[in-house]
Amino acid sequence: MDLGWSDDESAFRNDVRSWLEANVPTEPLPSGDTADGFALHLDWEHRLHAEGYSAVSWPAEFGGRGASLWQWLIFEEEYYRAGAPQRVTQNGIFLLAPTIFEFGTDAQRQYYLPRMSSAEDLWCQGWSEPNAGSDLAGITSKATRDEAAGGWRLSGQKTWTTRGAFCTHLFGLFRTDPDSERHRGLTYFLVPLDAEGMTVRGFGRLDGDEGFAEVFLDDVFVPDGDSDPARGGTLGDIDQGWGVAMATTTSERGLTLRSPGRFQAAAARLVELCRERGLEADAVSELVADAVTRVWIAAEAYSLYTLSDVTGIVEGRSPGAKSSLNKIFWSELDVELHRAALDLLGPEAEVDGPWSRGWQFSLSGPIYAGTNEIQRNIVAERVLGLPRIGR
Ligand SMILES: Cc1cc2nc3c(=O)[nH]c(=O)nc-3n(C[C@H](O)[C@H](O)[C@H](O)COP(=O)(O)OP(=O)(O)OC[C@H]3O[C@@H](n4cnc5c(N)ncnc54)[C@H](O)[C@@H]3O)c2cc1C
Repeated sequence: MDLGWSDDESAFRNDVRSWLEANVPTEPLPSGDTADGFALHLDWEHRLHAEGYSAVSWPAEFGGRGASLWQWLIFEEEYYRAGAPQRVTQNGIFLLAPTIFEFGTDAQRQYYLPRMSSAEDLWCQGWSEPNAGSDLAGITSKATRDEAAGGWRLSGQKTWTTRGAFCTHLFGLFRTDPDSERHRGLTYFLVPLDAEGMTVRGFGRLDGDEGFAEVFLDDVFVPDGDSDPARGGTLGDIDQGWGVAMATTTSERGLTLRSPGRFQAAAARLVELCRERGLEADAVSELVADAVTRVWIAAEAYSLYTLSDVTGIVEGRSPGAKSSLNKIFWSELDVELHRAALDLLGPEAEVDGPWSRGWQFSLSGPIYAGTNEIQRNIVAERVLGLPRIGR
């Protein structure tokens, strides 16, 4: 077994590194979760796209470079190493797109993917509702058949839609079979946010950024399947949306949303911070040194685990429910990593921007993409095969 990179992969890394070194903004952009910051991030997305870097692993016809998954991992390592801007297109490119590749029709792939990689269409995720978060199968938003018009009429409310106020489209689950319960009778819809009957209301997070939106749907018309993609459509079969949505969550929890490069780069910065500050010969410093060492090792372990994951995917095995293990691991690692930085900075952490903001955001990791309690239930039942609680 050869665990090194091939010559082609090393050459790819060098190209990516040179381009990033020449192009990453020297000053960090303002948060992409504000209107002004989002606009600046879009400029950056356009530059990435012009170089084929916005979705490197996609075929060139959809705006990518046809890179392998291994090269994608390299790209991600270099991206985070260079401190490049956050990806405000992530919900489309990293979550929805793999599902369109798997469940979409040719017409949907041809229409949506190039517009997604070029950041012309910006997607937000419409799963959660006011009374359905962890219990996603409890959604009440519905789609009623409009036979005469050849489509569906959507009504209901979605909430916690990340960057919804700045996006152009929403993907989400709606109940298409009124007599169904729980996971059955749901369908996966693609909906333009400027459709008639749609209201998007942004709201602020605890840190003040307008990172969330509530989306209200009042009799919004969406045409059948891929009959008119510009007006939206359905992805996958009618009433089979749960299975399609699980493919999206596998991407969100597993490989694509949080690649190891993100945590390796943060761990390397933490080690650097530790070197700059130096450590006293006391018990507190010893604890901090232990924590820094632990998170650095954990970031490397996550990287090695991911290599085995990618091997499986390349050989045709989907991670499926095992992606819940990734999600628990990366979200807890992120909290521990930032906590170690705050311990190192001491009272100064109060005024240090990047680490303290990073820490605040890391606290949401165990909640978004499905809470870690829910992931542990999934691991217990579907990975370990334990009996369901209460049965
Ligand atoms: C930063 C961030 C971004 C988000 N972005 C989006 C987005 O773009 N689109 C979207 O649709 N949603 C988004 N969400 C919402 C997220 O998916 C939900 O917050 C999450 O699924 C939990 O749902 P809830 O908030 O309703 O909490 P609840 O479901 O009410 O859970 C409350 C608590 O009870 C626990 N709990 C609930 N059920 C069980 C159980 N069966 N066993 C054990 N414990 C349980 C939970 O783990 C949690 O600790 C985002 C959330 C955050 C924090």
